[in-house]
Amino acid sequence: MPAKELTRPCMDCKDAEAVLTTRKRSLCSHCFKLFIAHKTFRRMDHHKAPPKKQKDYVPSKLLLPLSLGVSSSVLLHILDGQLQRQIANIHGRVAYQLHVLVIEPSTISPGNLSYDSNFEELQRKFPTHAFTRLPFHSVFEYVPEMKDLINEYAGTQFADDSSRSDKDRLAAFRACVATATSKDDLDNVLLTRLVVAFAKQAGCETILWGDSDTRLAAKTLAGAAKGRGASLTWQVSDGMSPWGVQFEFPLRDINKPELHQFASVCSELANIVVPDQPISENTLTKNLSIDELMMRYVETQGAKYPGVIANVSRTANKLQPAGSDDCAECALCGSLVSNVKGNTGITVSSQFGESQGSRFCYGCSRSRPEVRS
Ligand SMILES: [Zn+2]
Ligand SMILES: [Zn+2]
Repeated sequence: MPAKELTRPCMDCKDAEAVLTTRKRSLCSHCFKLFIAHKTFRRMDHHKAPPKKQKDYVPSKLLLPLSLGVSSSVLLHILDGQLQRQIANIHGRVAYQLHVLVIEPSTISPGNLSYDSNFEELQRKFPTHAFTRLPFHSVFEYVPEMKDLINEYAGTQFADDSSRSDKDRLAAFRACVATATSKDDLDNVLLTRLVVAFAKQAGCETILWGDSDTRLAAKTLAGAAKGRGASLTWQVSDGMSPWGVQFEFPLRDINKPELHQFASVCSELANIVVPDQPISENTLTKNLSIDELMMRYVETQGAKYPGVIANVSRTANKLQPAGSDDCAECALCGSLVSNVKGNTGITVSSQFGESQGSRFCYGCSRSRPEVRS
């Protein structure tokens, strides 16, 4: 049979037209998706169903926090494909079950519209999994000590009013934080606490974060700049978090442009993914948070030197947690409070004196509403 007439054959299957190029290889959409999925499955290898039938086998529950952005949506799509194949095989045993948590984006960033239709589409396209949608202010419900904690943390800059709704109380706290960097930093801390508390309540032993290697590199650099080097062992590396829930980053071998490519050839995600809000060219650099700046930097440099950026997150993944025998954990973010040995190479102490500083780590102290840096 004569070979197909192809102008640019896929370098893997040689049987279809190549539609995109990645890592110097031109691939058809099918082979490209396989390539990305394999990189993800390699990171999920240790979640296995038992080879033989076991009467009392209960698959573990994994939580996937979904921001409706491109990365976590692609992760859901890839893992859903893996689970559907396991369901369809002869024994139908799945390696794990997914619980998807969406923290309503409109409650995080006021510019975001409500994403009701994206959420409905999500449940329609991936009906096998459990879904929960929560507003950001439910952090007060899931982490009951958080109200007292932010009062203590914010000090005199923040006057809490217990007669107001949780939504208003969270808004008031966020409004008293001075800089874009501190706002982003504290939002990330609160979101992590909410996701972890939900995971524990839902019986999930592991949280699968959808960070690409680009995002992990940006988090590494921003974390070091913000004095949060010690928490990189669980914010960027696969391992145990301070709350007894495992953190994993299955997309750590895939960069952000590749995830965009994946979404572009994946019609199922078309009405689910909310595009990143581009940072306006008119936004002054000094008004951007360190996290935004680092993401922008890593995206630009990653396009030129992808190997260098991959190396940043790969190196961070090898960090080992410092021993915590003689150190208390930060009441807010879970990092060690002071004198962290090993990872950062620096000794830090709070600038708020012993009485106030002891409960919060250096990174959190720097983001305090009273501090204008
Ligand atoms: Zn192909
Ligand atoms: Zn802290």
